[in-house]
Amino acid sequence: MTTETSSDIIIIGAGPAGLFCACNAASAGEKVIILEKNVTPGKKLLLAGSGQCNITHDGPVREFLVHYGDHGRFIKPALMNFPNTALISFFKERGLDMMTTAAGKVFPSTQKSTDVLQILEQECRTLGVTLQYHQPVREVRHADGHFFVITRDTTYCGNSLVIATGGMTYPGTGSTGDGYPIASSLGHTIADPAPALAPVLADRFPFGELAGISFDSLPFSLVREGKKIGSHNGDVLFTHQGLSGPGILDYSRFIQPGDTIRLSFVGPVSKEQFVKDFTDRIAAHPVSLVRTIVLQYKIPERLVTTLLKLSGVAGDSTCAHLAKQERTNLITSLLEFPVLVRDLGGLKEAMVTRGGVSLPEIDPKTMESRLVPGLYFVGEVIDIDGDTGGYNLQAAFSTGYLAAKAISTKVR
Ligand SMILES: Cc1cc2nc3c(=O)[nH]c(=O)nc-3n(C[C@H](O)[C@H](O)[C@H](O)COP(=O)(O)OP(=O)(O)OC[C@H]3O[C@@H](n4cnc5c(N)ncnc54)[C@H](O)[C@@H]3O)c2cc1C
Repeated sequence: MTTETSSDIIIIGAGPAGLFCACNAASAGEKVIILEKNVTPGKKLLLAGSGQCNITHDGPVREFLVHYGDHGRFIKPALMNFPNTALISFFKERGLDMMTTAAGKVFPSTQKSTDVLQILEQECRTLGVTLQYHQPVREVRHADGHFFVITRDTTYCGNSLVIATGGMTYPGTGSTGDGYPIASSLGHTIADPAPALAPVLADRFPFGELAGISFDSLPFSLVREGKKIGSHNGDVLFTHQGLSGPGILDYSRFIQPGDTIRLSFVGPVSKEQFVKDFTDRIAAHPVSLVRTIVLQYKIPERLVTTLLKLSGVAGDSTCAHLAKQERTNLITSLLEFPVLVRDLGGLKEAMVTRGGVSLPEIDPKTMESRLVPGLYFVGEVIDIDGDTGGYNLQAAFSTGYLAAKAISTKVR
């Protein structure tokens, strides 16, 4: 066991929050060391947006607040201090332009997470940040105003400590929840970690063979114990086991096992409107195939085949021969197809972690612990989780920036 020379700031974790905090603190003249358990930084960042990195969202940053569930108020000072526009400028000034999709998602124009990571790592190196890989932090002790950070073979000593260890989903990336016991050992409370942005695993899912089919802005409602308790509209993807896609992931915070999700494949129409429209079309085209009429609603052909089968309607049935019960079944399948929720994807499948270091114990204007002076939390280790669309990375960058600013302007 060796003891390293002390540093102004020790950061645990080289994800986007830790790296960004490091380069901002170093640019203000602080001596910074990052301890990362993996042999390379940003493993989760490389997966972001399927490797294309949906880094933030377009639009006024105050409109971001509703995308963090009930925790928008906490994240507001961080977002205001370092908004999406500042993040976009940071990368643009270093040669990486951004592009915005029609849905408002912002990606690097190269659509490569590696380009984002490369800039962050290079910026740290240029500014003299010490990056120590293969240094899993096991324990932290706080004594005489100093933090002693213990890895398997070294003890590091710092005046300020930033915990940037991320959440605990996709554990293969290194985010295994290590920040929670460390924060607890320093007196912090941890809001129970749970999967967020999780896919739905369905009971007897009838569309498993159609995995990969996706729908833009599909309306769906949530039913619990026979009562409709909510509705939403978003992009939905069929998987082998159930439902995913941004619409489902964002709404997953409200879904529980045992619920039913009713999908409308015919758009946002009322039951009365649809029943009338469908019945009129059937009556007006007695010799047409029922299938032809259903295809008029712009439903993918393979799904139409499955829906007809599930409704008991033969593929070659004409409108004139559609029995009343078959028509009722088909209307239900098209307008409110019930998908029974067996479970939600667990920590291995969820994109982010709900829960984490409890918010009342952190000052939102600085990210400093209210319990231990000099201790800071940034990124997903905090009890913050955002919707899909770039809100989680923006939170990581903004909290990292704010902590760096607070540390470097603190009178010591
Ligand atoms: C598949 C997937 C796709 C995603 N896509 C997007 C997207 O497109 N847009 C978006 O906004 N968000 C996306 N997210 C979420 C986003 O990637 C995370 O919210 C973000 O990476 C959190 O950043 P962080 O720095 O707080 O933590 P992390 O990125 O999790 O980094 C934490 C780092 O700390 C290290 N560490 C942990 N414990 C220790 C320890 N004991 N000692 C030393 N080091 C340690 C880890 O190895 C890791 O490198 C996605 C997530 C996943 C899983």
